[in-house]
Amino acid sequence: PEDIRVYEFAEACGKSPAEVITVLFGLGMMVTKNDFLKQDELEILGEEFGIEVTVKDALEDVNYVEDYQEEVDISHFVTRPPVVTIMGHVDHGKTSLLDKIRSSKVASGEAGGITQHISAYTIEQSGQKITFVDTPGHAAFSAMRARGADVTDIVIIVVAADDGVMPQTEEVISHAKASGCPIIVAVNKMDKETANMDMVKAQMAEREMTPVDWGGDVEFIGVSAHTGMGIDDLLENILLQAEILELKADPKAKVKAAVVEASLEKGRGPVATVIVQNGILRLGDNIVCDTTYGRVKAITNDLGKPVKELGLSETGTVLGLNEVPAAGAIMVGQDSDKEARDIATKRAEHARAKELSKSTKVSLEEMSGLI
Ligand code: GDP
Ligand code: MG
Repeated sequence: PEDIRVYEFAEACGKSPAEVITVLFGLGMMVTKNDFLKQDELEILGEEFGIEVTVKDALEDVNYVEDYQEEVDISHFVTRPPVVTIMGHVDHGKTSLLDKIRSSKVASGEAGGITQHISAYTIEQSGQKITFVDTPGHAAFSAMRARGADVTDIVIIVVAADDGVMPQTEEVISHAKASGCPIIVAVNKMDKETANMDMVKAQMAEREMTPVDWGGDVEFIGVSAHTGMGIDDLLENILLQAEILELKADPKAKVKAAVVEASLEKGRGPVATVIVQNGILRLGDNIVCDTTYGRVKAITNDLGKPVKELGLSETGTVLGLNEVPAAGAIMVGQDSDKEARDIATKRAEHARAKELSKSTKVSLEEMSGLI
């Protein structure tokens, strides 16, 4: 990890930056005093100066995602609702299915609150909640996982019953398998005359996705986003999988939520759609989210109604951050606004310095190419 700069290193071992630069220069490594040292450079310097160098993440002290685990107390654990992500080949009906599930479960009086585009929502089935996320694509899904924002508990792969397995279906299968989440296959467009469930099952079985009724362990549910057929089946199956997973979280911990989407809205400022992973997100909470921070000014649920809080696995949008965070960023509650600001500022400075260091290195390389 490039987390220590030349001058910081020099300071830490009582040398001048010039001494450090000279050593590296002698070995053909061009650095300036503000550059971050790479692992191999650190090793060389350690040998040269006869000191032991241990690499520690400079952000360790600023409440990074990995450190969050300390906030969680398993004696507080309660069952939380599952978070489901729908993936599949383009035009196989992901959006239609998400819309149909939502409209079939939202009480008619609330239906007016359904906005056209929504990246996450929570429904109730048999008195139990399920949260659905519409990821912009499987690349984003994997990127979020890599950042530690793996909100997904269960993956639904949508395959059109008339089209069968397509190139993106194959990609999705590998992403879904890599996630380690249980997978349910929703065979969509079963209302079509050309629908062929057995063809889909055979194609999927060839890719190690063998249906339960063929002796495998993957549930295949026939559905239609147009007629609504099979949707209850699908939802019951999700609840069954969730039960097996025994999903737990600590509602008393400092709040931690993953950003699934964020944007700048006219008149409202930065707006982030989040899914709560631990704790409860409340109005007035001081939060830090990557390099952004703020105080929760307003929370809107997925029906566009103002609410005071969001519980475990629930989703809604949050107002109050000073800037727009990236999708996949993790929002964590802080004890004071000062703490939130300090952490965000430190991270922002760090990120900027890293960028700067990259650009100087590039220009040096470019220069050496010219000489
Ligand atoms: P996405 O790209 O996976 O999000 O797919 P869409 O939801 O946008 O659907 C692509 C097309 O398939 C649209 O024209 C839908 O109307 C159609 N479609 C989606 N689901 C069904 C279904 O269950 N039956 C039929 N007949 N058409 C469907
Ligand atoms: Mg779509």
